[in-house]
Amino acid sequence: MTDSKHHFIPYGRQSIDDEDIQAVVDVLKSDYLTTGPAVDNFEKKVANYVGVKYAVAFSNGTAALHSACFAADIGVGDEVITTPMTFVASANCILYQGAKPVFADIDPQTYNIDPNKIKEKITDRTKAIIPVDFTGQPVKLDEIIKIAEEFNLVVIEDAAHAIGATYKESRVGSIADMTMFSFHPVKHITTGEGGIITTNNKDLYEKLTQFRTHGITRDKSLLKENHGPWYYEMQFLGYNYRMTDIQAALGASQIDKLDKFIERRRNIVDQYNKGFSNMNEVINPYQETDGNSSWHLYVIKLNKDLLSIDRKHFFEELRQASIGVNVHYIPVHLQPYYQELGYKKGDYPYAEELYEQIITLPLFPAMTDEDVEYVIDTVKNIAIKPR
Ligand SMILES: *Cc1c(COP(=O)(O)O)cnc(C)c1O
Repeated sequence: MTDSKHHFIPYGRQSIDDEDIQAVVDVLKSDYLTTGPAVDNFEKKVANYVGVKYAVAFSNGTAALHSACFAADIGVGDEVITTPMTFVASANCILYQGAKPVFADIDPQTYNIDPNKIKEKITDRTKAIIPVDFTGQPVKLDEIIKIAEEFNLVVIEDAAHAIGATYKESRVGSIADMTMFSFHPVKHITTGEGGIITTNNKDLYEKLTQFRTHGITRDKSLLKENHGPWYYEMQFLGYNYRMTDIQAALGASQIDKLDKFIERRRNIVDQYNKGFSNMNEVINPYQETDGNSSWHLYVIKLNKDLLSIDRKHFFEELRQASIGVNVHYIPVHLQPYYQELGYKKGDYPYAEELYEQIITLPLFPAMTDEDVEYVIDTVKNIAIKPR
């Protein structure tokens, strides 16, 4: 039954326990508050987890993406290909470097960027590809890397949704040239705000580290001169994008629970999938067979031919029933700012069509089985209610 008195179930929520809190308190009592030993430790833990040589932590995931664009040498006049079905940050980071986002439409089955469409968009100016693991489903990296090698492009994977996901036996984060994870509270693990880039490339690692702190280095092997022990050089224009030790201590404590969180997310997804399997009004999310999603979001597609209610009203009824549904995403090119830049409605029909039909249901580790049942029952009731 749809019950307006049911407690509110948000679409996503962090899980913080006493251990996490203690880890932050310990840093507050230590000598370092900003970038110090806790950031080093967190970077090592993330690098170990994904199976990569280097990780560089940032103040947030967007700053991390911007830094990756800098490290990839993306600048004015360059083009970078990404998906329209993503959060605005995946494309904004390209604009920050004065380059041009070029969208390639999604594959209507996987909802991820279509590798064939990437190929169609490549020009002499194309410098990089930013694929996004939408909802946690890994993009088909083999195909994307093959294209990147053929045209000498850098692959910056926006894996904000996909820490813990795997693609063909490897963890996401160990495959692309650079991979970004976000630690915003709705993502798998949190640092409050935070992000990280993982890479196996030492040059990229050094550029990322220096960009994060004003373009300054103290590394003797990189200095052009050396006036003494106090000496540092600002060698290019960087930013203050550093993560604090306070954030990193929380992240390091959280990552110990990541596998448990993902397991719980997968259980909830199984429960949802079963719950909706016997109805055609709701189409369950795609499951990548070349890999394993880490399930950041559970996005259902409404079958508009079978429903007597449109998406907007479906959404409103779920909200009235205290279910914190959302829509991921409004395609980036439809945003007013992008429209002013000249991107046109109608240019990416699969993304636009998907946008009209999707609703994101609540999914986070602390959801109870009863919460999940309540969401399933409510969705079913709204879908079949005679009108
Ligand atoms: C969350 C998110 C980002 C940005 O991460 P922040 O840490 O919030 O800056 C980028 N891309 C996608 C797809 C995201 O979901």
